[in-house]
Amino acid sequence: MTGLLIRNVLVDGFHGQGQPSDVRVDDGVVSEMGTGLAAAGSVIVVDGRGGALLPGLCDHHLHLHAMAAAASSVPCGPPQVADAGGLRKALATAAGNEYGWVRGTGYFESVAGDLDAAAIDRLHDARPVRIQHRSGALWMLNTAAAAAVGLDAGEHPGIERDTSGGATGRLWRADEWLRSRLPAAAPPSLGGIGTTLSSLGITSVTDATPELSASSAAAIAADMAAGRLPQRVQLLGTPLSASTPGASAPGPGRQPTTGPYKVVIADSQLPALDDLAALIARAHAAGRPVAVHCVSRVALFLLLAALDAAAVMPGDRLEHAAVVPASTIEPLRRRGLRVVTQPGFIAWRGDDYQRLMEPEELPDLYRFRTLLAGGVRVGLSSDAPYGPLDPWAVMQASMDRLPPGGGQSLGPQERVTGVEALAGYLSGPADPGGAPRQIRPGGAADLVLLHCSKRELLAGPDAAMVRMTVIAGEPVFGQY
Ligand SMILES: [Zn+2]
Repeated sequence: MTGLLIRNVLVDGFHGQGQPSDVRVDDGVVSEMGTGLAAAGSVIVVDGRGGALLPGLCDHHLHLHAMAAAASSVPCGPPQVADAGGLRKALATAAGNEYGWVRGTGYFESVAGDLDAAAIDRLHDARPVRIQHRSGALWMLNTAAAAAVGLDAGEHPGIERDTSGGATGRLWRADEWLRSRLPAAAPPSLGGIGTTLSSLGITSVTDATPELSASSAAAIAADMAAGRLPQRVQLLGTPLSASTPGASAPGPGRQPTTGPYKVVIADSQLPALDDLAALIARAHAAGRPVAVHCVSRVALFLLLAALDAAAVMPGDRLEHAAVVPASTIEPLRRRGLRVVTQPGFIAWRGDDYQRLMEPEELPDLYRFRTLLAGGVRVGLSSDAPYGPLDPWAVMQASMDRLPPGGGQSLGPQERVTGVEALAGYLSGPADPGGAPRQIRPGGAADLVLLHCSKRELLAGPDAAMVRMTVIAGEPVFGQY
């Protein structure tokens, strides 16, 4: 491994603010910090030109294989597709995979209403088509696709049926079931995703896909081992049967680690309180906190009740927490629960929220400032591909909460400062919303060098400010 010397950079918490220093990296860790360090041995020397050097960003919630699949899919919702005519054209011109299947993503009802098999047939019946709702919770198949996967005879609680018992073509939260019935399809390579993440300064990700199949987990591990995905990866979807408690420390071996256990409270099919409590208790007994998908008000109340029955474990966290009534902030704090949120959705869908949500629920939408003020730790994330990946854009959305159509800030009382937004990405994978990681001798050399100072960054975060990204001492993006 080549040594690395980054000269003349501004590092938070070192020599006080505003003092440029040099940072030496050896064997994947920061080995020395100070001024006027000598370029000993065969090192790459980078002049930081007075830019800020930050710890690498951690995206606390995304979906790696869905991101790769989305990259080869046809967008079926706003802003690319606005109406039925646009959707018909998008499907007609979609490339399709080697089996002739068309995969659509990002559908929203504003395009052509609720889609079932017959409705998609009217748009495109020449090839098997499957379209994913932008929530990620629903697949809609046309007749050819439904027949190919045996939807009518399938046994899964998520298969929607009409009054006569026939499958409608709509399939809720049944990704594994569907995948097992599709032709072949090895998990897509994560090479392109790794490159994109590196260019954004992201050095660590948490994959939040529930009940990850053994083949998906193996494919992620293989892409990491081969260097195609250089980021550190924590998996929430490792099944409880495969749990190895205590293996959550990032190892040097480019292997994914097992994090909290992902639990989904599906609003389309709410679990019974006893079942939810039992599942949480099982995860805790396996040594894993839970990371609970919790979007609605009713899901949050259900979760709080289940946690009272099952007890809380340090590290338990809420994913999304899209709607948090004010009365639940103190109960969240009291239980030591963390929130992993995605204000980027406001930048993508703020107009829809404004139009479609109950006005009295709007103040509860993607809370941030009131959670911090109430003593709740908040980690930031993208939920990519369902939300915008760019962490700098998500920080900006946390700071201004502007909907895409312009107009007024959506919940201005929930805006946070640039420092607070950045902290949401600087907290470590095992500690979302915890103290920002620091660059210090002996620490992992996961670094982002910026073109500008931190003050300029915080005035208007932008991915173009990323000059170089380093993971475990290896430059993975930029010129050096
Ligand atoms: Zn997610």
